[in-house]
Amino acid sequence: MSKTLQAIRGMNDILPEQTPLWRYFEGTVASLLDGYGYRQIRMPIVEFTDLFKRSIGEVTDIVEKEMYTFEDRNGDSLTLRPEGTAACVRAVLEHGLSGGGQVQKLWYMGPMFRHERPQKGRYRQFHQIGLEVFNLDGPDIDAELIVLTWRLWKLLGIRDAVTLELNSLGTSEARGRYREALVEFLTAHLDQIDEDSQRRLKTNPLRVLDTKHPETQAVLVNAPKLADYLDDESRVHFEGLKARLDAAGIPYVINPKLVRGLDYYSKTVFEWVTDKLGAQGTVCAGGRYDGLVEQMGGKPTPGVGFAMGIERLILLLETLEQVPESISRQVDVYLCAFGEQAELAGLTLAERLRDQVPGLRLMVNAGAGSFKSQFKKADKSGALYALILGDDELAQQVVGFKPLRGQGEQQNIAWSALADHLATCVVQG
Ligand code: ATP
Ligand code: MG
Repeated sequence: MSKTLQAIRGMNDILPEQTPLWRYFEGTVASLLDGYGYRQIRMPIVEFTDLFKRSIGEVTDIVEKEMYTFEDRNGDSLTLRPEGTAACVRAVLEHGLSGGGQVQKLWYMGPMFRHERPQKGRYRQFHQIGLEVFNLDGPDIDAELIVLTWRLWKLLGIRDAVTLELNSLGTSEARGRYREALVEFLTAHLDQIDEDSQRRLKTNPLRVLDTKHPETQAVLVNAPKLADYLDDESRVHFEGLKARLDAAGIPYVINPKLVRGLDYYSKTVFEWVTDKLGAQGTVCAGGRYDGLVEQMGGKPTPGVGFAMGIERLILLLETLEQVPESISRQVDVYLCAFGEQAELAGLTLAERLRDQVPGLRLMVNAGAGSFKSQFKKADKSGALYALILGDDELAQQVVGFKPLRGQGEQQNIAWSALADHLATCVVQG
């Protein structure tokens, strides 16, 4: 195949074998969030480039080197969204959803785009489900976000495989003071830290803390600690969060090096990580961003949120063999009809069954075919039963009801009794 007819590297098709698992995952999250009173919002996939520069920060990895940015026909600089928070805040401001201190509990879902090196668990188009809460500034809501993810991990059967890492970044003033102390310390040790960290020291010094470079890590052992610079307010907030997590019985690890890649966080930051996926171990990450709305031109508005990576969570479900068996079957019943009259009768019968049996998944054979070929298709569909309609059945107003997975003998069932029969043995059973 010529190159132009392939998908872009790092941008994947989600094939029919995979979509049941995606729908199961997305459906589980959606009904969980309904249960907590969160409402869905849908933003465009493309926004003005300035939105991301102003919110995520000019010197972050995302804005510096990961965005898909292009000029449209009007000469406007547009960007495929690399994350959802910026667009969500933009929408909230644009529509006045946070005015007058209104509390908003929102969630969204969809593709995000970052030009990264594709590998397992890291793609150029990937999908997130994100939550954002506006106008609540206490640790109770930070705790709720964590509590609901904890419940989600249980629903999905992956609770034992994930660990919660927590940190507090303090207010932006406290962080500013800490940043100065860190820069001073690292500048004094400039010749001992790696090149990348030297560069970050100038642009985004806090990111040096999560360096993978062993020598730089060794230097950092003696560096000033963010925790020592926390303001009282952030300290009380953090204690409040920890007390609530303790009360809810949610284990966590304090990770003083957790700083997150985006500029807008303050106070609480957290990540859910797993050691089951190799290097791409963070499945869900977020934190508080009390300054962001104001920074984007709104009134001071507290905010907190997180996003989970759907691909990584799907990979985790597969790795841990937590894919429910029930989602793999997509057809309950396959109707085979032989001859033109039977086909016509089959069409009306099938439509009547769809009226009468809610939830029935019925596939009607298309393209005619011999006995053998229709049964083969029935089998391949994964259906539990085949319904057989030929001239004899037509004359008697019955269908042949044939179990395909070894559950008993074939029998004839009257058309008038068929709906009840299917309701009991397929939809409830
Ligand atoms: P990482 O450190 O893995 O690059 P990040 O800090 O850049 O992650 P966030 O911006 O916080 O990620 O996004 C939230 C979640 O979205 C991540 O925890 C991860 O599960 C997922 N995610 C981020 N980037 C990608 C990607 N390129 N491919 C797949 N999933 C991703
Ligand atoms: Mg990243």
